[in-house]
Parts: sequence; structure tokens; C-alpha cells
Amino acid sequence: MSINFDKAATTRLKEEVLNEMLPYLNEFYANASSIYSPAQKSKEKIESSRMKISSALGCKPSEIYFTSGGTESDNWAIKGIADSLREKGNHIITSKIEHHAILNSAYFLEERGYRVTYLNVDIDGFISLKELEDSICDETILISTMLANNEIGTIEPIEEIGKIAKEKNVIYHVDAVQALGNLPIDLKNLDVDLMSFSGHKINGPAGVGVLYIKDKTKITPLLHGGAQEKSKRAGTENVAGIIGMGKAVELAVENINGKIDYISKMRNKLIENLLSIDGVTLNGSLENRLPGNVNVSIEGVDSQEMLIFLDRKDICASSGSACNTGSIKPSHVLKALGLSDELAKDCLRLTLDSENTLEEVEEVSKEIKKIIKILRK
Ligand SMILES: *Cc1c(COP(=O)(O)O)cnc(C)c1O
Repeated sequence: MSINFDKAATTRLKEEVLNEMLPYLNEFYANASSIYSPAQKSKEKIESSRMKISSALGCKPSEIYFTSGGTESDNWAIKGIADSLREKGNHIITSKIEHHAILNSAYFLEERGYRVTYLNVDIDGFISLKELEDSICDETILISTMLANNEIGTIEPIEEIGKIAKEKNVIYHVDAVQALGNLPIDLKNLDVDLMSFSGHKINGPAGVGVLYIKDKTKITPLLHGGAQEKSKRAGTENVAGIIGMGKAVELAVENINGKIDYISKMRNKLIENLLSIDGVTLNGSLENRLPGNVNVSIEGVDSQEMLIFLDRKDICASSGSACNTGSIKPSHVLKALGLSDELAKDCLRLTLDSENTLEEVEEVSKEIKKIIKILRK
């Protein structure tokens, strides 16, 4: 039987989510912008999904915009704010451990005359509030940091960052793609102007996401075309995807504390098992960590070889971000923590969700021990 310990890469579409989507993929296919009655049904479904998501996140429905996923939400936030505030300044602050959807958008803007500060992180992956404050200048228009890191699971202090941003009158964007469903998020109590989410990371469909944009925030559209999403995000709505996103968010926040308890117990056991092996070290913070994230460096065991051996046992795992797979470059996140190239290449990421079990944790731990013995020979 196969075991999937790579839930940070993607998750299984839940049956309840699929069932709500299915009729809107064929039976009810009306374009939500049309005038006839069947279109009203599509339109209502979109608005009801928007309501579900806003109530789950503690914001207004008018602040929820549907996109094609986490990557688009991140691109839109960064490029849209950079463009709309170009007159005010050209300086953007982000961190060295962001997802490539943020980092590559920032590089793109640098080529177009923006100045970007990439904040350092400490050995556990935390940015320094002091360095952040020192980096802000009159030209600063945007701060973008993630809530939880996809490789090492470190949870950043977004409440404090938001307070600093607000005090300095700087727009604050948060990539919360990995956090949703794994941590409680309440936008009412956060000084955050934009926040990115993705469907397929929370047992919803791929190719749909959300960008939360606080009311009155000026942002240039990324996609120009029709008047969908209040003319801010053109394109015929992905009705089934949007319905799936709404249901997935609703389920993701349901009984969240119970889920956190269940998943972090498995994670703690897995960490305990792995750290009992010689030459294994944990990457990222032990305390402020996503419930389902384990990332270790295994001395003398190349991650690509480890992954191939695990695959032979029908175990899916990762060496970090999916984009790094196949490339020989060590992870930018692990490098930012200060790891040597060697230890960064000897990493193994195991990510769990509520569909995993403690039996799987024991099974995977046992296999990893065996593989380490073989590969260290
Ligand atoms: C997966 C991920 C994204 C990209 O989301 P997609 O929906 O796959 O485009 C962005 N940021 C983080 C932190 C992610 O984990």
C-alpha cells in the first residue's frame, strides 16, 4: 500500500468537494455573466462560495477575489501593488525563504527598476523584526512574507510584521498557502492587506485560488479583459473550481484544533523517530512549526537517492519545494538557514495531513532507517 508523506506539494481532492463541483462541470455549464436564468445559478454559486470563504477567514465577501491558484495570487499581489504605488516609491521588502511565486515576481520587478530587500532568516527560519524595521524607508511600498514556509514549516510572526507595516503605512501581503487549514487564520485581528490561498493545498481542486484584498486597497489587475471580479480579475469564472474552493475552505477550518492536535502528534512521533538516528538534524523551528511538517538533513544521504529508495517502497516524500526536484541546486530556504551545500542536499521533507496515520509514521520511520544503512555503506 502506498503512503503519501508529501502533502505540502498537493493533497487529495475530498469526495464532498468533488460532489459539489461535478454538476457544474457539465449539467450546469452556464457562463455566470450571461443574462438568462441558468446563468443566475452559476452566479449564485460563485457568491455563496465567496461568502463561505469570507466567513471562514473573518473578512468581508467583497474582499475575496478568485484566481487560478497560489501562484497567480502571489504574482498579482506583488506586481499589482508595485504598479499601483509606483508614484509613491519603488522599494519592496520580502524574505529569502519565500516561495518562487514571490521570489521570481520580485526578480521580475527588479529588472523593471524596483529595488527589493530580501530579509535574512535565523537558523530556525525566522525573519528579524529589527532588520525589517531598519529596511523600511520612505520609498517602501510593500512588504511580503509568508505565514508558514512550505519547506521547513516555520511560522512567521505575521501579527508583529503587520503592526510594523501599518505603523509605517506600508502595504502588507502574506502568502498563507501552506497555513490555511493547518493554522487558525482570522483576518479581523490581523493588520494584513492582502493574503494568498490555493485550492489544491487544502484538499480542494488545483487551478483555483484566492487573493484576499482588503477593501479600499488600490491594486492594478494582472489580467485585463472582461468585467469579472469587479473588473479586477478578468476571465470567465471557473465555476466548478470556485465551488470546490469554497467547500474546501469550509472543510479546512472545520474542527481545526482537533486536526492540529491529531497531525502534530504524528509529526512529533516522526521527528522523535528520525532524530534518534545518528547524523540526523531537524531543519526549521521545533516550536513554531506547521503541524504536518518534518524536514531533516541526513548526513551522508543524498536526498535524490533517498527519494528513489522510498519510491521503491511506495512512499512519496520530497526534498523540499517541488520545483527543486530534479534540479541539483540546494534549496534556497535551507541555504538561507545557513546550512552547508552538503547538508542542504541531504535533506528530506515529510509532510502529513489528517488523512495520514500513526501506523504510516512508524512504517516510514522503519523504511528510512533501513535506507540510511544501505546508502551510508
Ligand atoms: C504551493 C504554493 C504556492 C503556489 O500555489 P499553486 O496553487 O500551486 O500555484 C505558493 N506559495 C506557497 C507557500 C506554496 O506552498
